[in-house]
Amino acid sequence: MTDLSGRHGLVVGVANKRSIAWAIAQRLAGCGVRLALTYADERLGENVRALAASLDAPLILPCDVTSDDQVRAVYGEIGEAFGSLDYLVHAVAFAPRAELTGRFLDTSRDGFRIALDVSVYSLIALARGAAPLMRGQGAGSVLTLTYLGARRVFPNYNVMGVAKAGLEATVRYLAADLGPENIRVNAISAGPIRTLASAGISGFSDILQVYRDRAALKRNVDAGEVAEAAFFLLTSATAITGECLAVDAGYNIMGM
Ligand code: NAP
Repeated sequence: MTDLSGRHGLVVGVANKRSIAWAIAQRLAGCGVRLALTYADERLGENVRALAASLDAPLILPCDVTSDDQVRAVYGEIGEAFGSLDYLVHAVAFAPRAELTGRFLDTSRDGFRIALDVSVYSLIALARGAAPLMRGQGAGSVLTLTYLGARRVFPNYNVMGVAKAGLEATVRYLAADLGPENIRVNAISAGPIRTLASAGISGFSDILQVYRDRAALKRNVDAGEVAEAAFFLLTSATAITGECLAVDAGYNIMGM
């Protein structure tokens, strides 16, 4: 197993044991990476603290990604405790429930703003905060999670599809800005997985079934498989940046 002791990571987006972020955190921690995990509100802070009990000396910090002050405070704490940062995992998305059902045409201005702020701008804010801590040691790697709804229309995914399209463009612009500092920025486009966030999308069970029927591998993916690809992009894909890697059992390649 790769020994990554002495390396540090920030994982944003652990809500519970089903979270894709938690699978990635476990994969990194299993190789000795010391982690900082954040929670959006106190309600989920308990979950995160309980999960993190299995990690080695983790840093557990509050961070609502819509708050510049909280993002700044997270990096202040990481700077003090770790001194540097190697990996940033951004696994955060949100749209008001009313936006994830019915017609996209009815998207509200407020719903649009909230979805893009939480799900897209947060990557810019977090990457900007991470850069000085990565720069210090001459390399760094940032990873975010997207979905095929950025490129194709899925019923009820609505404004989240537009947010994910923005997120994928953001990956490319950040990769260009941070490339000269040897900081890589990539995305994984994961197949559908049952989590807290996906439970908010109406008809999600139907999406899972369609993937099982049509994906090249004729099955769904699990968070562990996404974590394995994330680990590759974060730790060893030294010439890959600005990319979006599909981890979807080959669903996106099929014509029908
Ligand atoms: P999850 O466990 O519910 O994770 C989503 C996370 O986003 C939660 O930890 C949530 O915290 C956090 N979040 C929402 N608003 C936030 C805010 N203002 N500040 C900080 N954190 C906030 O679901 P997941 O499926 O693993 O989602 C992780 C990522 O994978 C998302 O970007 C999602 O779009 C993407 N993805 C998921 C799938 C899928 O099928 N599950 C497929 C492709 C891509 P709270 O619960 O506290 O709000």
